[in-house]
Amino acid sequence: MINPPARAFSTARPASSLRNVAYGVSAAAALGATAFVAQPVHLDAGARTIAARYGIMLYDSKRRSLNIFVDGVSRQIVGKIISRFEERGYKLVAVKSVTPSKELAKEHYVDLANRPFYPGLVDYITSGTPVVALVWEGKDVIRQGRRMVGATNPLQSDPGSIRGTYAVSVGRNIIHASDSFESATKEIGLWFNEKELSSYEPIAWPWIFSDN
Ligand code: UDP
Ligand code: MG
Repeated sequence: MINPPARAFSTARPASSLRNVAYGVSAAAALGATAFVAQPVHLDAGARTIAARYGIMLYDSKRRSLNIFVDGVSRQIVGKIISRFEERGYKLVAVKSVTPSKELAKEHYVDLANRPFYPGLVDYITSGTPVVALVWEGKDVIRQGRRMVGATNPLQSDPGSIRGTYAVSVGRNIIHASDSFESATKEIGLWFNEKELSSYEPIAWPWIFSDN
């Protein structure tokens, strides 16, 4: 019987498990000096990290932006919401998942500090549920993104909007969206560092922006 050729690669785990990496113990020695070793991810629970709902931030092509947080982790609809923006033609510029600090949540909603629901809103988004924050870029993304998100109170949200599809309560209306260039600029600065925003052109980008 002919022996099979030696495999050029293996899907087997290395002799020394990578498990220790999760606990911050370097596996470099076990893998060899040139091996890439994943570092444990550390997310600061302070400013420049994301909050306890989902976050999406949107730029338009003139660098105006829109910020969205979604109650999608608990609802398990993050992918659906991301798909809506991708399918519309918007470009994902940044994404991360973090549990926000009180300070960050308060600053994010500081304009609502005098409203009766403010303490409950801050408590809710800092309750420990992970939040996904994203930055999107594209034509008219602030105004169009707000339309895609829908009215604040789901009772008034268009049925096809995100809130009109997934929410019935104003306090659990799934997603946050920056409402102006100024607020988006502030919010992106709160949640992201400049280095976290990527720069590339999707292949369909010129076609999507074309007009007659
Ligand atoms: N909110 C609430 N009760 C209210 C009004 C607002 O809990 O009576 C929450 C809701 O989650 C909303 C957020 O506060 O999305 C921010 O309110 P804003 O008026 O900025 O609405 P948005 O810009 O999110 O549509
Ligand atoms: Mg708002």
